[in-house]
This record gives sequence, C-alpha cells and structure tokens, in this order.
Amino acid sequence: MERALINFSFDDGRRDNFDIAYPILKHYNCPATFNITTGYITGEMKKEALTHAEPMNMAQIQEMFNDPSLEIAGHGYWHKNTLADITDGLNSLKRELKVEKLTKWGNGFASPGTALDMEVYNNEIKPVLKNEQLQYIRLSLRYKSHVGIKTFVRKLNRILHWPCLYSYAYKDTLMSSAEDVFLYAVPILSSISVAEIMALVRRAVKEKKACVLMMHSIVEKGRIRDPWDFEKDKFESLVHEITKLQAEGKLTITTSMNIYQQLKGNN
Ligand SMILES: [Zn+2]
Repeated sequence: MERALINFSFDDGRRDNFDIAYPILKHYNCPATFNITTGYITGEMKKEALTHAEPMNMAQIQEMFNDPSLEIAGHGYWHKNTLADITDGLNSLKRELKVEKLTKWGNGFASPGTALDMEVYNNEIKPVLKNEQLQYIRLSLRYKSHVGIKTFVRKLNRILHWPCLYSYAYKDTLMSSAEDVFLYAVPILSSISVAEIMALVRRAVKEKKACVLMMHSIVEKGRIRDPWDFEKDKFESLVHEITKLQAEGKLTITTSMNIYQQLKGNN
C-alpha cells in the first residue's frame, strides 16, 4: 500500500447519521460507509431492541447511496449473523435501492454486534459468498500477539486515556493485507478522545496500513446516552484532523469496500 487508508463505518442506519454525521462528512468531502439493518429502518424491528436512536428512512438511505463517495452496506435484516439474515438484509437493500449490487465490486456486510460464529461462516456462509456477491465481512478489533497485555492495556486505558497506550492496544486491528474476507474495525466509544484516535491514525500513516473506525450515533453535546454515542464536536474535529492529513498526502479516506479491494490487490 502506498499510503494509509482510513474509513468511517457507521452501524445500524441511525437517523443521527443522516442528520448530524452526513452534513459534516459532506462539508469535508469525506467518504464513509453506512451499514444498514433493514428491519430497524422499516420499523418491523422494535428500535428499543437495538438502540435508543431513531432509524433513518429509505429516502435518506437512497440520498446517501446516490452520493458517490459513500457506501451502503448490509448489517442484517434483523441484526443477526445467520446466512438467511445476511442475504435478506442485502436483498432488501438492493430491492429498495433498485440495484443489482451495492457497489461495483459487490456487497459489503458489517457483522451485527460482531457476533459472527466462525463455524456458521465456514459451513454456511463461505460456500455461497460468490452467489451473494458478498465481498467482505467487517468484524471488530483483533489481536495478533500479546493478547493478554494488549487486553489489559486497552482496559486500563479506559481510565488513563493515554494516546500512546490506545495506539498500542489497537495496533493489531490495523491491516496491511486482507485475511480471507475479513476487515477489522476499532470500536469508537463515547469516552475515547480525539487524541487517542489520532494516535492510532498516525500509526496507520507511519506503517502504511488501513484503519476502519466503527461508529454508531453522533449526538449533540450533552446528549450522550450510552457508550455508542459520540459527541458531534469531537466527531467534527476528528474529521477535520484526518482530512488535514489527507491534504498533506499522508493518507486516503475511503469506503470499507475500497479498503478491502486495495488490501486484496484489486485497484
Ligand atoms: Zn449494529
């Protein structure tokens, strides 16, 4: 990889993603991926089962889909990780958006709750990946070595919030090549500071790796209700800092699908 790749990957299809995150992303001309749980959007699924946040509607998803810098990906019909739920979710999105596939490469999928069972993946999902045009599955963080130390540092840093510790604890989640169909992502919680995330982004720049940031709600100041809400001001300064590095030629902000294709060597 010539330079680091950064992706904002938003889960569920929350209304604040359209109302708050999208205008900021547009202002900074910043690509992103939105992973949609269809049943949540249609209201078939009780939103309380998933989050306190209101869902987007299909017209809003369509508007984001029409923006060439954004990617729409699957996140299950009922926020599940079974083959049927993954396919129902993707098919319903394709049907609503009136397309054969969600990107020119095929379809992306972010594992709901990162609860993908590897046995289910190997026995049921993997054999039919091609038929479903499923390109990648986004999971959460990973460790490659020193699991015990990194887990300890990660938990300790929930109190300390030292950028250097944060960057160390999550370093194995950065990617330099694609392992099977998997992308790994750093879960961004309310308590995480912009300085912590930027330390990890700078590590990705130095190591020329890809970094996927898993986001949920973006909320106004003082409106944090659970760990998955991230404050708007912090999000804006994060986007500002990352786009500044992009302007300096140090990294490229892109979609999960583009990251996966570059990691695979398909440009
Ligand atoms: Zn989710």
